[in-house]
Amino acid sequence: MKFRLLLLIVTVLSHISCNNHQKTQNSFKSKKAPYVILISVDGLRHDYIDIYKPPTLKYLKENGLHSKSLIPIFPSKTFPNHYSIITGMYAENHGLISNSFYGPDTGRTYRLGDSKEVSDGIWYGGEPLWVTAHKNQMVSASYFWVGSEAPINGVRPDYYYKYDGKVPGEIRVDQVIDWLKLEENVRPHFITLYFSEVDHAGHRHGPDSVEVKNAIFNIDDYINRLVTKLSKIDLPVNIILVSDHGMTKISNEQKIILPKELYENKNLRVIGKGSLSLIYRKNKSYDLNSIYNKLKKNKFLNTYKKAEIPENFNFKNNIRIPDIVLSPRMPYYIAKKDKNVSGGTHGYDPANKDMHGVFFAMGPNIKPKLIGSFENIHVYPFITKILGLTGNPKIDGRIDVLGKYIR
Ligand code: AMP
Ligand code: ZN
Ligand code: ZN
Repeated sequence: MKFRLLLLIVTVLSHISCNNHQKTQNSFKSKKAPYVILISVDGLRHDYIDIYKPPTLKYLKENGLHSKSLIPIFPSKTFPNHYSIITGMYAENHGLISNSFYGPDTGRTYRLGDSKEVSDGIWYGGEPLWVTAHKNQMVSASYFWVGSEAPINGVRPDYYYKYDGKVPGEIRVDQVIDWLKLEENVRPHFITLYFSEVDHAGHRHGPDSVEVKNAIFNIDDYINRLVTKLSKIDLPVNIILVSDHGMTKISNEQKIILPKELYENKNLRVIGKGSLSLIYRKNKSYDLNSIYNKLKKNKFLNTYKKAEIPENFNFKNNIRIPDIVLSPRMPYYIAKKDKNVSGGTHGYDPANKDMHGVFFAMGPNIKPKLIGSFENIHVYPFITKILGLTGNPKIDGRIDVLGKYIR
């Protein structure tokens, strides 16, 4: 009986926290470095703060370095964008090309809800910031981020959790504070924090809803809790708050129903709907022209063969990018005939302003200023420079975009 109780406790504990895997210790140099907390508020559209006026977020925005918007990479979906922010690369270079996609290199399908695939390092290219930190003998921690559960080059954040969207925001914030109270050898200097509520509300109720407003005010409370507790800790902490993409309203009038033969065709694998569908040939000798020509007739749908994908999408040079990409014009939406389309979504061409997110940064190493919109791939070199890390040289992001605002 005692043994079973012990087993239960051990099982519960191992689910709750996955700490101390690689046990990095801060080098002498790392101990002297400042701290960065990178916060993602999923789906926080660039104009939400001006519309809903949450006080703490408004203060952060107006008193720190902030851009008119943060431009997502294509596709403007959660997984590729979080992974671009954390690696400084476009999807074609980091390989996490969508929330769900097929990998001819792995022979398997990646899906955001599939915990086995999500925690398999094989999918993740580039070098996430916690790997960079580890290489520089700096301790890192993550209260959720895309990729943080997988060993990437054999490395995870020193402290991390298995993703569970139900963990209350207050618990996440308090854990961040506890990490910062650790003894200096094992205290993380780079920490990520993630909240999904605003995205959920945006999908279900649309960007103009009271539910989105309430979700933003919940996040505002978490950030207020964090900032209040940080003010009682004497450490040089910089906060960088970003979002992965925005949100746009969708409705039944803009529904696209794809030809039935597309889904019934045994030679094809169709992944995704809504704002993006990926079509893969199972057999490379299969002639796509007949289905391509048919899809091409829909003027609300951008149908691209791989070679035709616009250059500015930076979405071509990867084996996981499919033979055909279907990218509806915003706010058109690919759905089944009997599905009622309502609420909001994202995933469209980043040139649409509704797809833009936010960038606010504040702290002892950051100069306050309002700057123009920029792509999220430039966040990685900004953070490595603040922390004094030698970063991955093979990134798409450039230090000249944000480097001048570091002090
Ligand atoms: P989407 O809005 O379709 O791009 O997907 C966003 C959803 O992905 C969020 O609302 C979260 O519920 C979920 N999510 C975010 N991060 C993770 C993660 N690290 N692991 C699993 N699911 C996640
Ligand atoms: Zn998202
Ligand atoms: Zn979403």
